[in-house]
Amino acid sequence: MIIIGGGPAGFTAALYTARANLSPLVIEGFNWGGQLMITSDVENYPGYADGVLGPAMMADFRRQAERFGAEFVTDDVTRVDLSERPFRVYVGDDEYRAEAVIVASGASARQIGLPSEQTLQGRGVSYCATCDGAFFRDKVVVVVGGGDSAMEEATFLTRFASKVVIVHRREEFRASPIMVDRARANEKIEFALNAVVEEVLGEGDGHVTGVRLRDTVTGETSDLPADGLFVAIGHDPNTALFLDWLDHDEQGYLVPEPGSTRTNIAGVFAAGDVQDHVYRQAVTAAGSGTMAALDAQRFLEEQRHHPGVVATPA
Ligand code: NAP
Repeated sequence: MIIIGGGPAGFTAALYTARANLSPLVIEGFNWGGQLMITSDVENYPGYADGVLGPAMMADFRRQAERFGAEFVTDDVTRVDLSERPFRVYVGDDEYRAEAVIVASGASARQIGLPSEQTLQGRGVSYCATCDGAFFRDKVVVVVGGGDSAMEEATFLTRFASKVVIVHRREEFRASPIMVDRARANEKIEFALNAVVEEVLGEGDGHVTGVRLRDTVTGETSDLPADGLFVAIGHDPNTALFLDWLDHDEQGYLVPEPGSTRTNIAGVFAAGDVQDHVYRQAVTAAGSGTMAALDAQRFLEEQRHHPGVVATPA
């Protein structure tokens, strides 16, 4: 049993398959933990009544799977061969084989796509307020995006920054009203609506000095002085390695059979954000990790009794 990915889905799948004596090997990625590692307080994971920090929660998930015998490779998968069982999963030159694979490789932060954004990454351009917020004490920062992430990051950044400007390309927000209200009520937060970042400005030692904004209605540009830019415009699924093998939609999200985690290849299952662009919550990812573990367990059970027979829906 190989589980690819070390976020809520992968670690939960590991917990369940370990407790089912399936000896899971979790190839968890070099930066295990997934998106929860770049989140601040998690207040909506049932059981943590007082809230928990994302990284602490992921360490808990991992420890719980480890307690039942899950093993971990802290590195990134570089290639897979799903043409026959045992499936082959490669980490560089190392080959791992498994009778069943759960793909739980998650999703990653999207970039605006500006050359200046690339150049100034780590010099004021960030995708993770929790990681980098503390560097911006008493500074002015810009947050791009109009979803819950942008509202959450902007609100979090007011712990450090003197001012946070949310730049959003429309007038309406994708974010839930409660998150928008919270941001609006925060006196350190300002909004630049109908605006996009056209260029990240930097000079001297190459640190961010501001952003050039373009008004999406009038086309006018203006420079906004700032010390940091936090990009919070959504995510893309980490599926590049699987696109040749597994059914996916036009955005690259894997598409398992409805109501299951079974992919088009018998013995390969998909769990978590890699197949979910709707809910994308830690708790739903953990739930789908559970589903994948149970689907995989049933599949392996069936193979044991009827080798060579393709698993069929229960
Ligand atoms: P999202 O909901 O997809 O929002 C992305 C935002 O970025 C949208 O407002 C979008 O604008 C904007 N955007 C996308 N590409 C852009 C570009 N190239 N340039 C400028 N703006 C761009 O993503 P998210 O905010 O990361 O949230 C993802 C999911 O996680 C959601 O389901 C959300 O509810 C959930 N979430 C929940 C919490 C929480 O409850 N605590 C916190 C964070 C995230 P348009 O609106 O114009 O498309």
